[in-house]
Amino acid sequence: MTEEGDGAAATSDGEAVVAAVEAVADRLEAERSYLTELDSAIGDADHGGNMARGWAAAVDATDDLDDPDPQTVCKTVGKTLMAEVGGASGPLFGGSLVFASADLDDGVTAESAVAFAETYLSKVEDRGDARVGDQTMVDALTPAVHTFKKSIETDGLSPLEALAKTVDAADRGVAFTVPIRARKGRASYLGWRSVGHQDPGATSTLYILEELLATAADALDSEIPDVDATSPTIPDDGEGAAADEEADPTAGGGD
Ligand code: ADP
Ligand code: MG
Repeated sequence: MTEEGDGAAATSDGEAVVAAVEAVADRLEAERSYLTELDSAIGDADHGGNMARGWAAAVDATDDLDDPDPQTVCKTVGKTLMAEVGGASGPLFGGSLVFASADLDDGVTAESAVAFAETYLSKVEDRGDARVGDQTMVDALTPAVHTFKKSIETDGLSPLEALAKTVDAADRGVAFTVPIRARKGRASYLGWRSVGHQDPGATSTLYILEELLATAADALDSEIPDVDATSPTIPDDGEGAAADEEADPTAGGGD
């Protein structure tokens, strides 16, 4: 996936995915105590350790692969997370990754990345039975996946612009977990006392997406795009206003 032919780094897609795994592992190690702090407020204080340990093992496992393709890397990471991380998050992150890796059969393209993201979300939903509003990783993941799909398929954004929007959407999803009540996972045992706390799994999901964006920018030798530059604008060319007037039954008449 190359955007700017001349400046693009000479990495294969498989190498880029391995680099992303390393970046995610470093980030989750750096955020280990923060994620544990979040999980100690509404869970059992192991999310930072779970993620840091799981992704460090994933780096070791992918290091052992000889010239791997993206699908093999993803499958290896998923299997390692399932084996290393117990609790709720191991099967959710790991199992979903193993399933979604099937969509990377022909490598990483904008289309296969959308399919991968959709499969990943649907597997997390299948396994955990959580939906938006349950104060889980699904609150970050759902807007992220929907935004990625729309950015690629409807708005025709470049993969990097789409990923930048995806991270922005996940960021809002993380903020959304704070004022709501947990209905799935350990935090749900707290009932209303979970209100006011940021979900750890949504937060680690955001960190993973941020690192995917940073690694993709590196692999494409590009800057991370400014998401505001690709925001939709409200039509102000008269056409939109005329259409609004037509649609408004009270426009231009009545008392
Ligand atoms: P555990 O809850 O087993 O201690 P972790 O602390 O590693 O596992 O992960 C907790 C995170 O897992 C939560 O913050 C939440 O985002 C996510 N989670 C827990 N249960 C579910 C579920 N049923 N569906 C989706 N995500 C869940
Ligand atoms: Mg926990």
